[in-house]
Amino acid sequence: MSQQLFTINKLRQEIFRYFSVINPLESGITKIDFEGPRIAIYTKNQELFRNQDQVAKDLVNLIKKRVVIRSDESIRLPREEVEEKIREYFKNVQGVVFNDLLGEVVIELSPDKPLPSDNELKLLSNMTLWSIKVERTTTMQTKTIEKVKKIIYGDPQYRVQVLRNIGERVFRDQTFMTNEVLITILGSGMQVGRSAILLQTTESKILLDCGYSLGGTSNLESFPRLDAIDNLVEELDAVVITHAHLDHMGMVPYLFKYGYRGPVYCTEPTLPLMLMQHLDFINVAEKEGVFPPYSEADARLAVQHTVTLGYGVVTNITPDVRITFYNSGHMLGSSVVHIHIGEGFHNIVYTSDFKFEDSRTLEACISKFPRIETLIMESTYGAAQTPFNRAQSEQVLAEYITKTIERGGKVFIPVPAVGRAQEIMLILNHLFESKSIPEVPVFLDGLVIEATGIHMAFPQYMNQEIARQIIDGKNVFLTEYFTPVRSTQQREEVLETSGPMIVIATSGMLEGGPILTYLREYAGDERNLLAFVSYQVEGTLGRRLLKDIREIQLMGENGKPEIVNVNMEIVKIDGFSGHSSKQELLNYVKSIQPKPKNVVLLHGEPEAVLSLSKSISKILPSSKIYTPRNLNSITLEMKA
Ligand SMILES: [Zn+2]
Repeated sequence: MSQQLFTINKLRQEIFRYFSVINPLESGITKIDFEGPRIAIYTKNQELFRNQDQVAKDLVNLIKKRVVIRSDESIRLPREEVEEKIREYFKNVQGVVFNDLLGEVVIELSPDKPLPSDNELKLLSNMTLWSIKVERTTTMQTKTIEKVKKIIYGDPQYRVQVLRNIGERVFRDQTFMTNEVLITILGSGMQVGRSAILLQTTESKILLDCGYSLGGTSNLESFPRLDAIDNLVEELDAVVITHAHLDHMGMVPYLFKYGYRGPVYCTEPTLPLMLMQHLDFINVAEKEGVFPPYSEADARLAVQHTVTLGYGVVTNITPDVRITFYNSGHMLGSSVVHIHIGEGFHNIVYTSDFKFEDSRTLEACISKFPRIETLIMESTYGAAQTPFNRAQSEQVLAEYITKTIERGGKVFIPVPAVGRAQEIMLILNHLFESKSIPEVPVFLDGLVIEATGIHMAFPQYMNQEIARQIIDGKNVFLTEYFTPVRSTQQREEVLETSGPMIVIATSGMLEGGPILTYLREYAGDERNLLAFVSYQVEGTLGRRLLKDIREIQLMGENGKPEIVNVNMEIVKIDGFSGHSSKQELLNYVKSIQPKPKNVVLLHGEPEAVLSLSKSISKILPSSKIYTPRNLNSITLEMKA
């Protein structure tokens, strides 16, 4: 099989050949630089800059790498004039941030007007000779998005250097021909939690996810087994994060603590959602008197090294590996990763967590790909006997809420901050509007509020209906039915309020978060209801309650452990899960195209993995099915 071994010099030659032969234009190139996985071409030819779309397209076709055209400093309009023009042009400007190193200006626009068209932006860019980027601020302020911007734009010199270093590795000479693909399971083998898969080719080492297990009782059980691979941190080319749940990204800053300085690839919403939860993770650990595995400085370093990619953008991340993210329907920004290895040597689809059904916020996971030889897929509900679906579950939830309110009780819904929480908010809105449940106050507590703000900033990552409403200026989540609890004092007031109410609070598996404060106060009253709407991992307090353990230990007000007797009603409703039901998992295998030769089942307890494996072998009788444990390696066969 022929392989194109691209070198940096060869790339330069190709670029110059393009300008002398194909497009005989005085290129005015002043610099060719790397911007992460893209090649940046700086020019002082104004015409070329104004024609950048065509030139970039031609070059991508020619060299098969992502290209961006930037203006040389000498031709850019001065900052003051650019800012004046921007403010003349748009009436809803909230901020203008210049990046002199890249010749890029970020315009922050308030959400009360529709976003400018590509044409308008193009005109402005042609006039000013700056690259223009537009960001929407939201009606809900989020501290995290501000923080991410400060970290990235606050030290542009460092960021540019990071991107250059990443590019140098991505576009390095390929030393070895790709003739082998090996995956090693460092976490999530026969378990739900700490997802981490090491993907190795003869040329590249890539870590897919780097999660933390909530149910573990020691670091050896909670951390991915990075320790099992010699020199992993030094030799790692890239980290790819599928979505912002702790069990997929909780340990990313830990890599930076131990010296990793390479790229972290994820979608745009995943970045702020990740930072928010890393900081919360440190916070919770400190509150519980546990030494956190990394510091805030490590989490900030991770942000500085993160490169975000939109859905469908094909990106080289090493000389022989290209990745593309697609919607996985699991939570905001969650992705299935298509991994293309060598020039057609092997293709992997890593589904990570996925939902093969439309939810209120997201469309169902993508199932058609250009090519697949190996499918790595989750198995969370692989053993579930009772089928579930959302419409039915909404009705069940409505019945439980109504019953509880009618007997004078309060409803508590523990949620992970991201994904389930926003889905449940939309469902409650719907239940109130359709008068399916009595109108009572709903309090939102914990990270849910901030996470909802982050949702409002990325409408394009949700389904069209929700996106349209947000762009029209509606806060689809935080309607008049909800009251956010923003301080300890406010929480005290809620705790003193008598009568029926609904509380949505973090954390989803009762491992920390304000939900525990409510439980301490109200778990003893049998009129109340605790409604689980997400998966409860083995070893968590949530799982123990589901196993009928009714005497639990919670931290008291004075910081001392307290025994709490749980008399409230407890129910678990599966249909809101961001994971596919068993039926959906099997439907996915039936729908996926083309058919994979290898299927690797991860992210499920042994019973789930084995049961799913049996069912899949009937659907794909000629495929090889693997059910690895942690530290098992699999050499993936070359395409037949
Ligand atoms: Zn997840």
